[in-house]
Amino acid sequence: MNDDSGLPEDSDQVPSSQTSSSGTDPDSLDQQPTVTDQTGANQSSHVIQDLATIPQRAVARPEEANTILISTSTPIVDVRNLAKTYIIGRTRIRALQDISLKVYQGEFVAVMGPSGSGKSTFMNLVGCLDRPTQGEYWLAGKLVSSLSNDELADIRNRQIGFVFQGFHLLSRSSALGNVLLPMVYAGVSREERERRGRGVLRLVGLGDRMDHKPSELSGGQQQRVAIARALVNGPALLLADEPTGNLDSRTSLEIMAVLQALNEQGLTILMVTHEPDIARFARRQVAFRDGLIVRDEPVLTPGSAKEEWTKLLKKAAAEHKVQVTEER
Ligand code: ADP
Repeated sequence: MNDDSGLPEDSDQVPSSQTSSSGTDPDSLDQQPTVTDQTGANQSSHVIQDLATIPQRAVARPEEANTILISTSTPIVDVRNLAKTYIIGRTRIRALQDISLKVYQGEFVAVMGPSGSGKSTFMNLVGCLDRPTQGEYWLAGKLVSSLSNDELADIRNRQIGFVFQGFHLLSRSSALGNVLLPMVYAGVSREERERRGRGVLRLVGLGDRMDHKPSELSGGQQQRVAIARALVNGPALLLADEPTGNLDSRTSLEIMAVLQALNEQGLTILMVTHEPDIARFARRQVAFRDGLIVRDEPVLTPGSAKEEWTKLLKKAAAEHKVQVTEER
């Protein structure tokens, strides 16, 4: 049920949240019925709802028809012979050298490489936070590498969602307040902001946590707020920079399950990670070294974060049950 913004319809169209103490029901990520696990795994039953309504930008918004030409054959990211050289005093640092890469709609790419290999520089360029020294960057069919700072900021706000390792949430604002903010900058009406904000929070399984401040949320829930915030303007591309870097392994699976579910619904994701264990959930891996792409290959059988997370939850619940029995 998308409106022309590509964002979730109002609450009436979204099933009501099934709530409990923590986590997200992995079985709900593809809208299967919630598993009520007698071992106690049903503790985790926040529902990722109505994933069919996630923002999809395969088709341009009508008002952008003259400027944004997105089709399945147009790459979302098309960088051509991109180079970035930093100059510090007399030293020239070639952070990126002649990078060419295309990312199509619906791809989930893990950007890998050791420290200093150029990943952040690349992501800054792709995220329109910086301009290349040489080369071209076409974002969703539009040449953006030579735009002014103001134009870049506008493109960034409307076309790109960012998720960071450290969540970067406003501590004094509620989950909803955090999610509404990018729409204020985008000039969205108050009513529409509220509607979209609540929609994306439900989408990431936080329908019952909208009024909670970050300090009242778990790490996984905070990252889900950040993902909701990144989605709220209907971006063509989600850029995630070490999104699980601050999370334990179980919560990392939770977040990867959310990202995989969104990707399965068509969201294009570029994710920096140095962890092979996280990169195996992507569909493609691109590795950098010394400012060059040294590997670019599909992941033939990506792991299912949802399945692995479910197993972990059930195992933890079963262990918990055994412990309780022993205590008696
Ligand atoms: P990674 O994210 O893979 O760790 P970076 O893109 O941060 O790599 O860095 C690539 C190279 O560019 C490194 O040698 C780094 O020191 C240099 N570099 C990154 N940002 C800057 C900057 N703002 N000024 C100067 N040099 C930089």
